[in-house]
Amino acid sequence: MRSIAIVGGGQAGLPLALGLLEQGYRVTVATNRAPDDIRAGKVMSSQCMFDQSLRIERDLGLNLWEAQCPTVDGIALAVPHPERPGAKAIDWSARLDKPAQAVDQRIKMPAWMELFEQRGGKLLFEDVGVAELERMAVEYDLVILAAGKGEVVKLFERDAARSAFDKPMRALALTYVTGMAPQPDHSRVAFNLMPGIGEYFSFPALTTSGPCEIMVFEGVPGGPMDCWRDVRSPQAHLAQSLDLLKTYLPWEAERARHAELTDANGILAGSFAPTIRKPVLTLPSGRIVFGLGDAVTVNDPITGQGANNATKAAKVYLDAILAHGEQAYTREWMERTFERFWDYARHVVAWTNTLLTPPPPHILALLGAAGQCPPLASAIANGFDHPPRFFPWWTDPVACQQFIHAKMTGEAVLL
Ligand SMILES: Cc1cc2nc3c(=O)[nH]c(=O)nc-3n(C[C@H](O)[C@H](O)[C@H](O)COP(=O)(O)OP(=O)(O)OC[C@H]3O[C@@H](n4cnc5c(N)ncnc54)[C@H](O)[C@@H]3O)c2cc1C
Repeated sequence: MRSIAIVGGGQAGLPLALGLLEQGYRVTVATNRAPDDIRAGKVMSSQCMFDQSLRIERDLGLNLWEAQCPTVDGIALAVPHPERPGAKAIDWSARLDKPAQAVDQRIKMPAWMELFEQRGGKLLFEDVGVAELERMAVEYDLVILAAGKGEVVKLFERDAARSAFDKPMRALALTYVTGMAPQPDHSRVAFNLMPGIGEYFSFPALTTSGPCEIMVFEGVPGGPMDCWRDVRSPQAHLAQSLDLLKTYLPWEAERARHAELTDANGILAGSFAPTIRKPVLTLPSGRIVFGLGDAVTVNDPITGQGANNATKAAKVYLDAILAHGEQAYTREWMERTFERFWDYARHVVAWTNTLLTPPPPHILALLGAAGQCPPLASAIANGFDHPPRFFPWWTDPVACQQFIHAKMTGEAVLL
């Protein structure tokens, strides 16, 4: 029986571990936080997942909260009017073909760890460094490092050619609340883009106390939404969140008038640099370790893709491991497997990165035109489930113009 060790009990590591276990592999997960620590700790993500990723979880039997978790049925965009305070220059909403869902990782990861053990997996609680990786590389046929943004992932070499930025592009904050006024017609990710200031979006989710809404703040570094460093208490964090809405997005402040924190740990603030790393780590002994998830592909959360990417990467790796049978897990096999994932993820990364720098005129035209053209709004909203659909029209001004024209007129588009 082939043996595989996975470091990191998160959105990438656990679905892969459970998938391998189901296929008869001997699997160990080594992770540095126990279920009770995660349950009692701070929120880690807003983790909105779209249909293709939810389907992967469903196929693995991991969709344990599907019935309780509120659905996210659409995506909306608003841009404040530059001259008329309180008015919107862009304002549209489109339905998703299939709903998205966000289950608090404080619920999900502990339950998946427990399921992993119940199904016969070996769960170790340890803070893995080079010495532990060396030990695992001797003991197991394959070692996968899926430690998210943990320090240990810095052992992977940064891929300068694939990393567009070398510093954080947004100051991030999360505020989990109840009491938010529901959206008219259908639930949605309500995006607000404030050029030069940052972005704010919110959407329904399931947290430890039941249904909630997650507020996500993305502040341009050095700007007025980069304002979390001196916030000392959960109540001050909520007050800061509501103040930002009152100042920049009065319609969102109105929705949030009765917002209360879900719990004292329903807050987060921080930042990180979006980074792509080379997927194979050579240990001092010469043995090799394979990277998965955020460990090697970490995106800014502005497009809500990290948990989706982690899940899709886990599926690519699972299929590759199963197809590889009894053959050795060589560096070439690891690189080939990562490239299979990267063939998808490069679109996610390129699309996400365009939203972290001031938008070019064709993107402003596209986002504006979507307000007059529901099929265009629908194409943008449904691209979140599979970002390769945004290409070539998201980045190529000529293709974008053709795409807008085709959607406006109902003509077929040959791209
Ligand atoms: C503010 C914010 C909002 C987000 N919103 C969304 C969203 O709406 N949609 C979306 O798709 N994604 C979102 N993401 C991203 C998403 O949460 C991550 O991309 C995803 O969780 C990555 O999964 P992972 O398994 O690679 O890493 P993680 O889920 O972080 O798991 C890593 C695991 O490794 C463990 N670990 C770390 N170091 C060690 C070590 N040395 N030894 C042992 N174990 C270790 C950790 O404890 C953890 O269990 C958001 C992220 C942030 C920060």
